[in-house]
Amino acid sequence: MYDVIVVGGGISGAVAAIASSRAGAKTLLVERYGFLGGMLTAAGVGPMMTFHVGQEQVIQGITGELIDRLKNKGKSPGHVVDTIGYTYTITPFDAEGMKYELECMLLESGGELLYHTQLVDTKVENGKIKEIIVSNRGGLQSLSAKVFIDGTGNADLSYLAGVPCVKGRPQDGAMQPMTTNMKMTNVDTDAIRAYIKAHPEEFPYLEGNTDIIDESSILAVSGFAKTLEKGLETGELTFKIEGILFFETNNKGEVIINTTRIHGYDPTDPWSFTKAEIEGRRQAMELETFFRNRVKGFENAVLVHTGPEIGVRSSRQIEGEYVLTIEDIITSKKFYDVIAHGGYPVDIHSPDGEEEVITEDMHLPKNSMYSAPYRSLINNHITNLITVGRCISATFEAQGAIRVTPMAGAIGHGGGVAAALAAKQGGKASDISISTLQAVLKEQGAYLNLEGSQ
Ligand SMILES: Cc1cc2nc3c(=O)[nH]c(=O)nc-3n(C[C@H](O)[C@H](O)[C@H](O)COP(=O)(O)OP(=O)(O)OC[C@H]3O[C@@H](n4cnc5c(N)ncnc54)[C@H](O)[C@@H]3O)c2cc1C
Repeated sequence: MYDVIVVGGGISGAVAAIASSRAGAKTLLVERYGFLGGMLTAAGVGPMMTFHVGQEQVIQGITGELIDRLKNKGKSPGHVVDTIGYTYTITPFDAEGMKYELECMLLESGGELLYHTQLVDTKVENGKIKEIIVSNRGGLQSLSAKVFIDGTGNADLSYLAGVPCVKGRPQDGAMQPMTTNMKMTNVDTDAIRAYIKAHPEEFPYLEGNTDIIDESSILAVSGFAKTLEKGLETGELTFKIEGILFFETNNKGEVIINTTRIHGYDPTDPWSFTKAEIEGRRQAMELETFFRNRVKGFENAVLVHTGPEIGVRSSRQIEGEYVLTIEDIITSKKFYDVIAHGGYPVDIHSPDGEEEVITEDMHLPKNSMYSAPYRSLINNHITNLITVGRCISATFEAQGAIRVTPMAGAIGHGGGVAAALAAKQGGKASDISISTLQAVLKEQGAYLNLEGSQ
């Protein structure tokens, strides 16, 4: 019997488990892979975007501490300028370092780990999860706790326990495209820098300001517009692409290519998800050849990694006590029960690859900081369940902003402390004192701006 069981060890679940354990709860983290980090380490996602609003670091606490520890070990340069100019800072990291550091932090906190174990079902009685059923090499097993945290990214635990969920945009349920991220090594980033300076017209995002690439030793690139056009014209590329997008990691000459676009599939339907994996791999192979033949700096590059899972941007969102909306984001609505802040813009990749989804009224004003309320992590159906990460209660558009990894970590932090508090007093997630939750979060180093909270 645990106080708290967290299912899913992505950035949100891992941080939640560390927070819960540090807050004194006997905590177990159950993860289907043999490592932590979720999309960041399993799907090759990176860099983390963004810990800042303007100059201010608004994501601190355990998520910030993770980066400090990685930086001390040479596994991350820390927060650097975004040379695409899209957001304030980006935080590259070494994925193997990330797996190890999260694991160290969890074990140091006294938390326990159960790897290679997948959630398959729940036993719910009187609106409470009594047990979860997991599958692993030992067969089917049940695990019990006073409070459960859903850190699965896809709201698997919430869905299986009967919490109503929604998927995609309201008019047709269409979700953001999936992406098979590719890691390529032996990339000549000095040649890419020289190319950007010589061909500013290929990088419209920079609006001619190519000097921004001198502000960081780590490159983030969006562009190669004419190169891409050529690839589409000649038929070397056969799928819809908005642009070429890649990011250097912590390791010189290693980049993450975020350019495949797998439209029209449903990550919560295993048959559809399988088709998406197959199409993602096909696109990745096509891109490998295209990059080597056409994109400056990639002539001798090697594709070394696509990860055990295609990248999923959006799937289920729980219907929580409070549904975070796009208005809440762009007007920086304050909440009495705020547990995390963020400043990443609304970033929605078109579900069909055709029409632009982000309209003028979805633009986050510069230097605006938004908030996530605790009520978006809890629901009216299961009393001892807290949902964290990208699948909290939010509209399709609001999720486009809060889905990124620093924010998912900060939300996990809030959920983890809340679970520990709930476990001490009967397990009801909605019964905890918000002021105590916020005080413990602050004690654990989290950034919270409570000014004007209603
Ligand atoms: C292609 C792509 C590019 C992106 N680019 C960026 C970027 O550049 N910067 C950025 O900050 N964010 C980016 N994101 C967003 C970000 O990766 C995710 O939104 C974030 O990882 C969500 O964190 P999470 O902890 O909620 O979920 P996840 O990272 O998905 O973690 C969920 C964890 O739960 C485990 N799990 C799932 N189901 C079960 C189960 N049934 N039983 C046991 N374990 C389970 C998984 O194995 C995983 O470890 C990108 C996303 C994608 C898909």
